[in-house]
Formats: sequence, C-alpha cells, structure tokens
Amino acid sequence: MKPVIILGSTGSIGTQAIDVCNTNNIPVAGLAAGGHNLELLARQALQSAAPVIAIARDDAAGEFWQAFDAIAPRGMPRPQVITGGDAVAKLAGSASDEITVLNGITGAVGLDATLAALDSGATLALANKESLVIGGPLIADHMVRPAQIIPVDSEHSAIFQCLAAGGHHRGLCHETIDGTTEVASLVLTASGGPFRGKTRAELTDVTPGEALDHPTWQMGPVVTINSATLMNKALEFIEAVVLFDIAPEAIDVVIHPQSIVHSMVTFRDGATIAQASPPDMRLPIAVALTYPHRLPATQPCTWERPTSWDFMPIDEDTFPALRLARQALAASPIHPAVLNAANEVAVAAFLAQRCSFLSIVDTVATVVETYRGPNTHEITRADLAAADAWARQYAAELLA
Ligand code: MG
Repeated sequence: MKPVIILGSTGSIGTQAIDVCNTNNIPVAGLAAGGHNLELLARQALQSAAPVIAIARDDAAGEFWQAFDAIAPRGMPRPQVITGGDAVAKLAGSASDEITVLNGITGAVGLDATLAALDSGATLALANKESLVIGGPLIADHMVRPAQIIPVDSEHSAIFQCLAAGGHHRGLCHETIDGTTEVASLVLTASGGPFRGKTRAELTDVTPGEALDHPTWQMGPVVTINSATLMNKALEFIEAVVLFDIAPEAIDVVIHPQSIVHSMVTFRDGATIAQASPPDMRLPIAVALTYPHRLPATQPCTWERPTSWDFMPIDEDTFPALRLARQALAASPIHPAVLNAANEVAVAAFLAQRCSFLSIVDTVATVVETYRGPNTHEITRADLAAADAWARQYAAELLA
C-alpha cells in the first residue's frame, strides 16, 4: 500500500485517517497540522513513526519537542520538523506518484497544499472541498494525470464509487471506454442538518450550540455549521461540478435525513446507482487511500430491524445557500471563491456570537451579489487571492 502524508492530522478527518492507517498497516510518510494541538500531534508523530512533521505555526517547534520528549521512549528516533506558513504545502510538494497525500485541512487555507500535491504527481485524497470551490479554475492545469484526485467528502466519494460501478473508473462523467457520455445526472444527498423542517422565522434566535448539534454526523465545527445552513451542500455542489466535470444543471440535490445513501448517479438508460453505508468518514477515507481495492474500514448497514430511507426536496426559501452556489457558478469562475471566503468569515462571527444564524447566508448573498471580478480569461492564483481578501473584508464590514 502506498504510504500516506496526512495534512490536517489533528482535525476530525486527520484523526480518522490515522485510525484507518493504523488498522490496515498503511505507512504514514508525514503529518501536517496548524499547530493548535501540539500534544495530540506529538502523540500522532510517535504512534505513526512519521519521518516528517510540518507545522504551520512559526514558533511551534519548541513546544512540539517538549510534548514529544515527554512521551517518547529513550533512544526513539526523532522526526524532522518543519515550521512556518508554507511548511504544509512544502510537505505536500515533497510527495511523488508513489505516495498518497490526504488533504484533511478545513477552509481556503488548504488550497496551496492541494496544488503542491498535484504538482508532485501524488494521488490526492481530497477532503478539503474548498480547494475545488476556490481553485476550480486552477486545478486542471496542476493535474498531471487523470484520476489524480480521489474525493474523501462522503458525497463525492459515493459518486466516485457509483461512477466506477457504472464503468467510469477515472471518476469523470464524460470518460467511458468509448468516450461517450453515459451519465445523465448526479444526485447529491443532504441530511438537512439540525434545522430540517423549520421555517426561516423559527431560525431567528438559533444559538451556536443548537447549530453544532448535528443529527447524524460527527464533524468539525465549521462543517457542522455549514451543514446547518446547507452552505456545506452549496460548497459540495460546486465541488461536484469541478471534480466530475459536469454541468450544474445535471446535478440534483435531495434531502435524505438518515445519511445512509451518500449520493447517487443516474445513467442515461434510467438506472440510478447509489452508495449506502452508515455515516462514518473512515469508509470514504479508506476508499481514497486504497482505490481500487477495499479494506476493512467500518460496519456496514444491517437489516435485522425495519429500516426506511426517506428522500425529499430541499426547502430553498428557508435554506437559500444552494441557489447562491448556482448563482456564483453562473456569474464567473472567481465567484465561488468569493462565496467561500464570505462564508468562512460569517461562520467565524456566528461561532463567536457576533452575528445571528440567518446573517451567515444573508451576508454571503450580499457579498456574492456585489462582487465584480476582473474581466480576464486566464485566472491566476493571485486573482483568486485578491477576490478572497476582498470578500473577507467586505463580509467583515457587513457583519460589524
Ligand atoms: Mg460531505
């Protein structure tokens, strides 16, 4: 099995990825983290025997060694530690086609590591959806071969698996044996989050605590808030357009409260293929690390008790995030980056109790509608960074 470099190792995806590696004896070639939880990172470094540790915080090395030396047995070989703002992307860029890079970083900050990993020729197991939402216009230029990205986001992993089941082994909708398009549509499922069935008026006084109480998934705080606003599905909608090279019109989104069917693909003959499993990220992580093979990863669905799976349309009046995603995709290739940046600022403000729940998506809507990007065909990393910075500043002004 290919060794894995795990980026964002102390986060929700990272810790589960280490779990999958430990269970299946997959070697860990490197770990990267922001540097907010150095005790956990030191434990992970020791346990996984990763030879290189990257920490984004400049001044983290001393604290890391203190934590490491406190638990490491005498004579234990020490990993190489690199620190600084570019350390994570540097580690990702040091990979090769013999290595899988798992990007489990949350937020726009994960994009540079994604581009570096692609440039290195590594297989990219991608959980950082923002890389595709923001970096959509850049991704294709950095890919060195087809199927270089294997999605870890559960919905996109499901679609990837359904496409493979339908003969599209490279995870692209248009690439079959004879080059014809046999995919009619992708069906993204959404749990609906903790506020499914509520009206807009009922969401006025929602607290961060209520929004963080997700009914089916255990996830990091940002993704959980994004699930409550359905902004997570909006980002995943854009992610699917970029990843599977399909028109927005060919993607349906449906509420599925049980979170068992993780998404589906409908083919032109009328067959819909679904991927079903209990909600557990270790499955999509394992698929991405070992595709096309399958490892023991999670408990499957069981059938001893009566079970029903429900599907229903989204109430887009209460949850307008998806509409915003379509609007951003139609406006320009840079608008999705603007949408994401404004949302990151608004979610942080909500978690810090500086704005209301409804203000999150309202703020994003105003920022997306106001943005007028550069009129260029060639979009550069600098264009995306400028749009991101503008959107963050304008969102902060609106929320102040
Ligand atoms: Mg997801």
